[in-house]
Amino acid sequence: MKKFYLSTAIPYVNSAPHCGFALELIQSDVLAREHRLLGENTFFLTGTDENSLKNVQAAEKEGINVKELVDKNAKKFYELKKFLNLSFDDFIRTTEKRHIKGAQKLWQDCQKDIYKKKYRGLYCVGCEEFYKESELENGFCPEHKTKPELIEEENYFFRLSKYQEKLKKIIEKEKIKIIPATRKNEVLSFINQGLEDICISRLAKRARGWGIDVPGDKSQKIWVWFDALPNYINALGYGKDSQKFQKFWQENQNKLHIIGKGILRFHAIYWPAMLLSAKLVLPNIIFVHGYLTSGGQKMSKSLGNVIDPFVLVKKYGTDAVRYFFLREIPPSEDGDFTFEKFETRYNSDLANGLGNLVARVVTLATKLKVKSEKLKVTVKNPKLNKIIDNTWKNYQKALEEFKFNEALISIWELISFCDRYIEKERPWQESKRQKETIANLLFALTNIADMLQPFLPETSKKIIKQLKTKESKPLFPRI
Ligand SMILES: [Zn+2]
Repeated sequence: MKKFYLSTAIPYVNSAPHCGFALELIQSDVLAREHRLLGENTFFLTGTDENSLKNVQAAEKEGINVKELVDKNAKKFYELKKFLNLSFDDFIRTTEKRHIKGAQKLWQDCQKDIYKKKYRGLYCVGCEEFYKESELENGFCPEHKTKPELIEEENYFFRLSKYQEKLKKIIEKEKIKIIPATRKNEVLSFINQGLEDICISRLAKRARGWGIDVPGDKSQKIWVWFDALPNYINALGYGKDSQKFQKFWQENQNKLHIIGKGILRFHAIYWPAMLLSAKLVLPNIIFVHGYLTSGGQKMSKSLGNVIDPFVLVKKYGTDAVRYFFLREIPPSEDGDFTFEKFETRYNSDLANGLGNLVARVVTLATKLKVKSEKLKVTVKNPKLNKIIDNTWKNYQKALEEFKFNEALISIWELISFCDRYIEKERPWQESKRQKETIANLLFALTNIADMLQPFLPETSKKIIKQLKTKESKPLFPRI
């Protein structure tokens, strides 16, 4: 049986989840559901990154202890499972024992590439990373637009430089395939500038005692990225060398990381280097999505434009939120959220498009007593059959290329075709072909429901139920 492993990034839990991460979870969920439908043995992982300084600072600001803060926010991230109808198989928190054990084991497995030295550098807590002067924009972090802190410490370092040529080949030859190709080029140009060794620990004192101890040196905590990245194998039981780890990581050629563009370097350079050092197998694909903006600007608390996924789901329903993100946001570029755009999509595509078609067909089928059980025999429209076949082809191709929006566009083209077909045949008027037309439409709707399964799982179920029971209920009431 073919295997499929996919992971999302694990977000910091310094605040409640916002829609940018919801987008990543929804994209990942579609792929997990699709691969399960293809009959593959699928493992879908998400979780939370809890050992960062950011969390320490957020807790200090709120006047609570760090444990309290991470527990409170991790719970909210977990709740997205229900709100967004996510099908992840595991949720790992980096404060869990299984993770701590695994992170320390990986450190030990990389030991030959780890050394200690005195260091002075500019650190952005937002990124949890040191920057070179040349990488800053007028002295500010390019990601956070904040001034990094000057830090001088004796820390542990990882010999990243040693892996420069190997990594270059791996990325060039697509042993790790980076999608889209523009991101691959970004990684290569970063490697070509020359890789320097990276600092992988910090003084426990600076970390306020929060984080994972460096094995054998309690005065130091593991740098949060060196601790976080192995979550992808720790959840599979790397720390105790479990069978699941062998099966889904070591002996699986189908491992996918889904991440946002801001953390590409960590996943495409640092993480593979760590795996090479520990003599472990590499991931196969890294898919990089863009950022979600709100009203054309980066979501930020200070601008007051942060979109809360819980509020959105409560107002519009899970599948409407899933639909908007998958249809409106270009999968590997930035995309914009506004309530106007959301409601326009909702009304035109869901209420009037899909919802209206299902209601019309189910109502007519009930009236004329057309049974969907005999569908395959009754379909006599070669044009419709051809269109359905083509839709499946386009849909599958789009999904293979992570083009969620294009997969949905092809489904909605089929919906439009059905609308035109119904207008042309006018099956509400008595005619010889009346029942046949309805049977054809029921057949098309069965296919549409199947295609929607990974995207809008609840809606897909509802359509199939209505086709069976012939009870018409609005899928998406107009707003
Ligand atoms: Zn930063």
